[in-house]
Amino acid sequence: MTAASLLSRGGLVFDLDDDAPKPRDILVVGDRIKAVADPGRAIEGDVPPGLEVIDATGRMVVPGFVNAHYHSHDVLAKGLLEDMPFDVWALHSQPAFFGPRGKAELRMRVLLGAIDCLRNGITTVQDMNTLVPQDEETLDVILAAYEEVGMRVVFSIALRDIGALDVAPFLPPDVPADILARIQGSDRDPIADLDFVERQIKRRGDLPSRMTWALSPSGPQRSSRALLEGIADIGQRENLPIFTHVYETKAQAAKARVLYAAQGGSMIRWLDEVGLLRPGTTLAHCVWLKPEEIAMLAGRSVSVAHNPVSNMKLKSGIAPMRALACEGVNIALGCDNSSCGDCQNMFQAMKAFCLLAAATDPQPTGVLAAGAMRAATIGGAEALGLKGAVGELRGGMKADMMIVDLSDPAYMPFNNATRQLVYSESGRGVETTIVDGRIVMRDRRMTTVDEAALREELAEMMPRFRREFATVAAASERAKPYLLAANRNVAAVDVGVNRFLF
Ligand SMILES: [Zn+2]
Repeated sequence: MTAASLLSRGGLVFDLDDDAPKPRDILVVGDRIKAVADPGRAIEGDVPPGLEVIDATGRMVVPGFVNAHYHSHDVLAKGLLEDMPFDVWALHSQPAFFGPRGKAELRMRVLLGAIDCLRNGITTVQDMNTLVPQDEETLDVILAAYEEVGMRVVFSIALRDIGALDVAPFLPPDVPADILARIQGSDRDPIADLDFVERQIKRRGDLPSRMTWALSPSGPQRSSRALLEGIADIGQRENLPIFTHVYETKAQAAKARVLYAAQGGSMIRWLDEVGLLRPGTTLAHCVWLKPEEIAMLAGRSVSVAHNPVSNMKLKSGIAPMRALACEGVNIALGCDNSSCGDCQNMFQAMKAFCLLAAATDPQPTGVLAAGAMRAATIGGAEALGLKGAVGELRGGMKADMMIVDLSDPAYMPFNNATRQLVYSESGRGVETTIVDGRIVMRDRRMTTVDEAALREELAEMMPRFRREFATVAAASERAKPYLLAANRNVAAVDVGVNRFLF
């Protein structure tokens, strides 16, 4: 049940412009914040019916985070992979290799990923979802699980009609045919895929208020011109945000130099040509951008979703965040797949965002905790098409927030709200999470799902999943030396920028 009204009383209300937040009461009516006021001043006149009071004394109320890049399909694979460059990892984690999953597993992975988010104060997620099989039943199970857990989601069905791994052009010539077939994948019909997505948007037009649609080509190099232009067209007609992966790895940059030779080797110019470089587009990763491409993103009001932890785990390089910030590009933060970051934790992402700036620049960079908090809240909201709805705590906004316990050692002593959220907090202090005016976690317990029952169900499910994961891993093992050789070939290619420290 959505609480009719909530009053958070006595908590310090986080303010990006004030490192010493003040106690404020927050009145929530329905799904929105009605007032943020001095203690005792939030309610004028009659007490709203059904008012639930939360004593937030000794706590800080913080806007819910926006996880701007995530895929729910491999939540069960957390902790299973390590020390793999991107394309080797991709061979282990692509949903296509696993075949159809049962409904219980589809529901489980959405719920577990969402609980990981909500426990860490993430109230909105962009799930770039690869539906396998791509059918209505699979989609409905996933959307129902989001509805059940009560998380805000901007949902997109990831499309790719070119099956090959990004690094495929750089393979050595002696790859056995069966391994090559696995690496090359199989292509799909773009028209059928576009038609499927458009039909789903029409069919599920009545999404609950916490859910919105977006569109996702998996990556320009994995998509035909017809697919990219088709997505641009649906995006314009339906006014939907678009999310895609861009320049995550050096192999993608090296491939772009050949694939988009007519566009000066630039994936960004190619996106422009197919109508996707526009406000409302968010590019995940952007590790291997050239300076002139960064300027283009700024000029077109395109957002970047930075995923520092996954970029490090998959040996993708360090994204040029200082240059993007200096050019005024809107920056959001994501936690990416659970198999390449192993958790949905914005505190880790924010800390890495700040600290990585030091890896490439020994001088002060201006990459500060406040910038990380902005990216995790307002920046993410803008990227997801939710600007003015989430990311801030003020009257009229959706009531998405977390309540953080200031008696946690992370705040002892409490010197600076922003810096301690970014550098000291681990997620341990998040006590209560509210989405759309509804308490979904209270005193560290989920209110929307039975976590004990979920744990039991998971324990039953995992032996089979681990067996199947091991089968995919074993099949990928023979391809690994060839993919590593391709990676070495890419290392020798000059793409005009270097995002490694060598
Ligand atoms: Zn991704």
